[in-house]
Amino acid sequence: MTQGLTLLGATGSIGASTLDVVARHPDRYRVFAVTAHRAADALLEVCRRHAPRYAVLSGAAEDLALRRRFAEAGGGTQLLFGAESLEQVAADSESAILVAAIVGAAGFGPILAAARAGKRLLLANKESLVMAGALFMRAVREHGATLLPIDSEHNAVFQCLPQVAGRASTSAVRRILLTASGGPFRSAPIERLSQVTPEQACAHPNWVMGRKISVDSATMMNKGLEVIEARWLFDVPPERIEVLIHAQSIVHSLVEFVDGSVMAQLSNPDMRVPIAHALAFPERIESGVLPLDLATIGQLSFERPDAQRFPCLALAYAALREGGTAPAVLSAANEVAVGAFLEGKLRYTAIPQVIERTLRHAPAMQADTVDAVLEADRSARRIASDCAATLMGKAA
Ligand code: NAD
Ligand code: MG
Repeated sequence: MTQGLTLLGATGSIGASTLDVVARHPDRYRVFAVTAHRAADALLEVCRRHAPRYAVLSGAAEDLALRRRFAEAGGGTQLLFGAESLEQVAADSESAILVAAIVGAAGFGPILAAARAGKRLLLANKESLVMAGALFMRAVREHGATLLPIDSEHNAVFQCLPQVAGRASTSAVRRILLTASGGPFRSAPIERLSQVTPEQACAHPNWVMGRKISVDSATMMNKGLEVIEARWLFDVPPERIEVLIHAQSIVHSLVEFVDGSVMAQLSNPDMRVPIAHALAFPERIESGVLPLDLATIGQLSFERPDAQRFPCLALAYAALREGGTAPAVLSAANEVAVGAFLEGKLRYTAIPQVIERTLRHAPAMQADTVDAVLEADRSARRIASDCAATLMGKAA
């Protein structure tokens, strides 16, 4: 029997990779619902190919003509509008699997709804775990959801850990080593970074991804968010999570055990590998990714990240150590700063400045309720927008 799958963020980079893997296995998976924010034409194309029951445009208001086009697209897809519809499809009991590939804090509500509905949850959206890791992991436990990481590093760590009593066990883990490519500016002269453009920042050497995560990879805030993500997914304290630059993006992360053994997961850099793994776990299915040719790659290199070049990494560790709503503040401020940078309004080097100032000015609070987290997110966005406006003035 096929399993129903709901894909939040179907028109994005992870969305496309997921649909590619799913289309290779029609005997296993059937697409139940797909969502996009505003990209109606791209979503319609997805519906023509996969004929889901529901499609959601979360950033659009009711539009009868559009609804008719989706209904006539082939599979009689019902089009829903508005952000509330995301939670509706995420929690629908007719779909067992949820792939969370929305970018940013907008993923938080629907992902939490899916956790509370006890779904098999394939998580690409790291921002929701950064915002409210404790709350989120509690919801997963209390509602019997299964959480499987598809962020490549966390999927690699998951693959390296032994399964004990149906769970990935970290009891014998000494360190988790998250690898990072170093992005497009790994060896660019530091004094030139203030001049880099959004196009340069989005030109990642190894991965093709959405624009926000591409900038996060350039600043290494992506790795900072991933350190926080790893803390919650694997329940390992920050001092035992380290970051290693590995320019080739072949080793996706490593786990060191107390006996000195180090396990790593390798593959070509293609998100279909972790997606296929998480879809089928504990089985294995074809992902469409080419075999790894290590002799042609020849060399794998590793180095420590340069704190001066990548100040965002230390900011993320500091927010994680502070705890409470500090990681939510960090992530919200980063979204605001990256958004302003992508619009050409803020210098690249001002991104960490906005985040650092926002962390300093946002009140420290407990992150024990959804309301507290959402309020921290909102107030951090206000503070970060003000900081960005001040820094824009200075850059002009
Ligand atoms: P993307 O920008 O390519 O796609 C984002 C998707 O989310 C689109 O379908 C878009 O319509 C939807 N969306 C955007 N804003 C929204 C909003 N406000 N409300 C609802 N939906 C919204 O992004 P991506 O690169 O696919 O990344 C998605 C998530 O996966 C991010 O959290 C990212 O950090 C994570 N991730 C991505 C990769 C990758 O290789 N792309 C790897 C690891 C983790
Ligand atoms: Mg990653």
